[in-house]
Amino acid sequence: MEVILAEYLGFCYGVKRAIKIARENASPDGKSCTLGPIIHNPQMVERLKREGVGAVDRLEEMPEGTIIIRSHGVGPNIYAEADKRGLDVIDATCPHVKKAQLSAKELVDDGYSVVIIGEKKHPEVRSIFEWSDHKAEIVETEEEADMLGPCAKLGIVCQTTFSSSRFRQIVMHLMEKSRDVRILRTICTATDQRQAAAMDLAKRVDMMLVIGGKNSANTTRLAQLCANHCLTYHIETAAELRDEWFDKIKKIGITAGASTPDWIIKEVYKKCQNRA
Ligand code: SF4
Repeated sequence: MEVILAEYLGFCYGVKRAIKIARENASPDGKSCTLGPIIHNPQMVERLKREGVGAVDRLEEMPEGTIIIRSHGVGPNIYAEADKRGLDVIDATCPHVKKAQLSAKELVDDGYSVVIIGEKKHPEVRSIFEWSDHKAEIVETEEEADMLGPCAKLGIVCQTTFSSSRFRQIVMHLMEKSRDVRILRTICTATDQRQAAAMDLAKRVDMMLVIGGKNSANTTRLAQLCANHCLTYHIETAAELRDEWFDKIKKIGITAGASTPDWIIKEVYKKCQNRA
C-alpha cells in the first residue's frame, strides 16, 4: 500500500501566525483569552488551553486582561467594545482576512453596492459583513446571485477560503447586475494551493483521508472536492480510522485543512504506513 501526502496541506500562514501570537501571549492565570476558538480544530484549542490560552465566547466574560482576536477577524464594534471595557487587544486577524474586511469597507465608502461571496454563517464572512457597515449582501450560490436586483455600481469581495471555481461561476451571474462592477478577488493562495493539490492527488489514489476539524469550513470543502474523484473520509484524528476502509485499497492520499496541526497529520500518516 502506498501513502502519499498532498503537495500542500495543513497549517497556512495565517493560522501559524495566529497560534504563534496566542502562544507569545499565553497567561497561566487565565488573563489571556481568544474571542472564540482561535482555529476550527478542537485538538489544537485544547492544547493551547493547557498552555495558558483560554477562549471566551463574549467580551462580557472577560472582566480584565488581554483579548486575542483570532485569524477569522471581527467587526469594528468589537475593538470599540474591548476598548470601552479596558481590555488589551492583540490582533491575530490574518492579513488576507484584514484585506477582505478593508476592501468591503472601501467599496461601501466609495458608493458601491457590495456583495460578499461566501458562507453566510462563517465567522470570517460575518466579520467582513460588519466592516461593510452591515450593508453588504452575502451570496453563496448562483441562485442567490440571480435574486439580487440591478444597481449602479457593484463591488464584489470573497470569503478567503471560498472555492475559486464557484467564485468564478457566481461572479458570472453577478456581472449582469451592473455596468460598473469592481471585483476584489480576496481568496488567499493557501486555499487555492490546498484545493488544487488535494484534487490532483484524489485523481491518482483509491482513497483520500482529509484531516481536520468537523467544524472547519475549509477542511469540509477539501473533503467535498476529493469526494468527486475517489472514496473520501473526513477525519479529525487517527483514532477514527477503521480497518474495513483499507480493504482492497492500494494507494491512499492524505490532505489536511489549513487549521490542522502537523502532529495530527503525522499520526494519521504513520498509522496508514504501518498497514503498508
Ligand atoms: S486560509 Fe488564508 S486567509 Fe485563511 S487564515 Fe489561512 S492564510 Fe489567512
